[in-house]
Amino acid sequence: ATRPGRVPREVATHCPYCALQCGMILRADDDRVTVLPRQFPTNRGGLCQKGWTAAELLDHPDRLTTPLLRDAATGELRPASWDAALDRIVAGIRAVQDSAGPDAVAVFGGGGLTNEKAYALGKFARIGLRTRHIDYNGRFCMSSAAAAGMRAFGIDRGLPFPLSDLGRADTLLLVGANPAETMPPLVRWLTEQRQAGGRLIVVDPRVTATARQADLHLQPLPGTDLAVANALLHIALTEGWVDQAYVAGRTTGFEAVRRSVAAWWPARAEQLSGVPVADLEATARALGTGGRVIILTARGAEQHAKGVDTVTAYVNLALALGLPGRDGSGYGCLTGQGNGQGGREHGQKADQLPGYRRIDDPAAREHVAGVWGVPADELPGPGVPAYQLLDSLGTLHGPRALLVFGSNPVVSAPRAARIERRLRDLDLLVVADLLLSETAALADVVLPTAQWAEEDGTMTNLEGRVLRRRALRPPPPGVRTDLAIISDLAARLATDDSAAADAAARFPADPSTVFAELRRASAGGAADYAGISWDRIDTADGVHWPCPSEDGPDTPRLFADRFATPDGRARFHPVDHRPAAEEVCATYPLHFTTGRVLAQYQSGTQTRRVAALRRAAPEAFVELHPDLAARLGIDDGDPVLVTSRRGELRAPARLSAGIRPDTVFAPFHWAGAARANSVTNDAVDPISGMPEFKVCAVRVEKA
Ligand code: SF4
Repeated sequence: ATRPGRVPREVATHCPYCALQCGMILRADDDRVTVLPRQFPTNRGGLCQKGWTAAELLDHPDRLTTPLLRDAATGELRPASWDAALDRIVAGIRAVQDSAGPDAVAVFGGGGLTNEKAYALGKFARIGLRTRHIDYNGRFCMSSAAAAGMRAFGIDRGLPFPLSDLGRADTLLLVGANPAETMPPLVRWLTEQRQAGGRLIVVDPRVTATARQADLHLQPLPGTDLAVANALLHIALTEGWVDQAYVAGRTTGFEAVRRSVAAWWPARAEQLSGVPVADLEATARALGTGGRVIILTARGAEQHAKGVDTVTAYVNLALALGLPGRDGSGYGCLTGQGNGQGGREHGQKADQLPGYRRIDDPAAREHVAGVWGVPADELPGPGVPAYQLLDSLGTLHGPRALLVFGSNPVVSAPRAARIERRLRDLDLLVVADLLLSETAALADVVLPTAQWAEEDGTMTNLEGRVLRRRALRPPPPGVRTDLAIISDLAARLATDDSAAADAAARFPADPSTVFAELRRASAGGAADYAGISWDRIDTADGVHWPCPSEDGPDTPRLFADRFATPDGRARFHPVDHRPAAEEVCATYPLHFTTGRVLAQYQSGTQTRRVAALRRAAPEAFVELHPDLAARLGIDDGDPVLVTSRRGELRAPARLSAGIRPDTVFAPFHWAGAARANSVTNDAVDPISGMPEFKVCAVRVEKA
């Protein structure tokens, strides 16, 4: 209860979790912080259970409030001063770089970091540590869609149109997306779409909460979405539904795609995917004759060793039907992490500089080096994608030290036991986090960081809409912001007092100063923030990039007149089905796939500690079809052992007729014996570096 006479403090901000970035009010009464709904264009006052309970972590007893240092004698993590922790880090960095060069240190970031932090981290890696080794967990999230978007449209923005367009679509095709569990407030758009007479078609190997609402559900074998897309385009061609004028006027490369899908007659796709010809034909008809049509992909299509090609197949379909750039139609990707979009624009990716510039582009290097005040030839070259980086740690030629900000690869990386071993082999592991994640528990130094309600910054949601996160209160004593940590480290790495002062100025801890520099660094790039000020964000419901001028408009819709390629045309790319990296066999006869549940988020570091969420989703489970369970002698609730060539997972069985009898599913939010990523395959997409989280071969038995 609020004490009489006290004036509560409120800020309008956004949820700390997913890419929908729902608007919310945070209200401080006495010692309690409450979440209240806020009208915002994406969530229109709605929040999911995760958003409603987000404030619980602010004063959670598990919260880290002092640095921890691993005691050399006992091997245990012990509380330490900031001076001792930062000195240990600097000494460790110097030791490995003196013996093995600048690339002996690596940085691993996260898709939940604000734009300012993502920017500062990329800059710190390149000119503070002088290493080429930086990448982030977004590589495991939507990197395949990003790469497919870049090669087709010349730009990567999750949704190139406002989310509200979903409610106006006559036909909406969701491929490997389950927003009813991952982004529940978004479902209101789907409901409105169907109430207005629109059709919802879902492609997913499971009857998810979203699939249950669909007019038509295609349930392909995991790893065959590409074949489904090619068959849909085959049918559209045969039936004359391809928009020939659009293809001729706005695209290049269609002839090769036309030839490549000629072999994907529907019966062949049915044989491979299990999707009946009649359903393929009904889907193609709805897309080809459906007025306003939107095709969306998410992790189900993207997290494959052929993820880029799979997304490309759906982009090809969208282009052939003339959708991108047409009012109320288009192709988009439902980005996952809170700043999954902004996190991939400002330089924490191995191959990128701010503004979504390529790090191997001489002009981009000149521009960014100019903003950073260093010669361009001092910028390191490209690093390697996340899994490759993690898998090289502690090896003969790999980095010997790793700094992790806002990520938990011990739970989220594929083939996780191997990555855990790599982390243990390091000379120095530093983790900055608000809680002792499974990765932090392995660290030599743990740095306690501020939470979302304790610092200002910006996030970029799944629509490319740049938003303000606002601080309600300062961090508690003993806790620092990520920007302050980067600033402190940069200063301590300097060789003398004057260089330390320069470094502190070069890496400011104030987020508004960082954002001002980010705007200059991004100017002229694909993700151009030059015209976006915090004040401008405040006066509108966010600002969509690209926005090159403060006086000019922002860009809620892309592609109306041209694509972001040199000639303004979108590019078709012929793509063909190829088997999963690991196919089922006599020893491992079942397909294994992973995903999320409503009440948990990512590696669960935060949501597994929230009481209401723990009650709603207390433990992992293995979902399997009753027919399969009967064959294996497994009853609902029985402990089950799932084994792949890489490891095993133990969790209770959950029987569901909504999964294919040849496939088992487990959520990836849990650690220890229930860690789904102990089982997953570390085969990666050759273009995006995306691991194949969505399919591998396993056997299942009663534990
Ligand atoms: Fe937060 Fe996403 Fe839930 Fe909205 S849908 S409240 S952004 S977790």
